[in-house]
Amino acid sequence: MPDRHPAPDHEHLPGDGHETVEHDGHVDHVHDGEQHTEALVHEDHEGAHHEGDGHETVEHDGHVDHVHDGHLHHQHGDHVHEHGTPEKPQSD
Ligand SMILES: [Zn+2]
Ligand SMILES: [Zn+2]
Ligand SMILES: [Zn+2]
Ligand SMILES: [Zn+2]
Ligand SMILES: [Zn+2]
Repeated sequence: MPDRHPAPDHEHLPGDGHETVEHDGHVDHVHDGEQHTEALVHEDHEGAHHEGDGHETVEHDGHVDHVHDGHLHHQHGDHVHEHGTPEKPQSD
């Protein structure tokens, strides 16, 4: 499992002006001598998620995500974060 090191109070998006380096399968931004993992943003997302947009919502790590094509999408301002796939309840 790659070790991720998100910044505690801010996020890095593609093309935010910081130098980027490949690290263990993800992208880090070099910031004040530290490496902060780039946020995983859904590219070219159609529309924005909001309550009652027709997608199922799930609680995930203290926030609400929308289930979209089998993926967790988290609306954050004008962009959408990819939060992986929902945990499936064991059925058998
Ligand atoms: Zn890293
Ligand atoms: Zn940073
Ligand atoms: Zn989430
Ligand atoms: Zn979506
Ligand atoms: Zn964001």
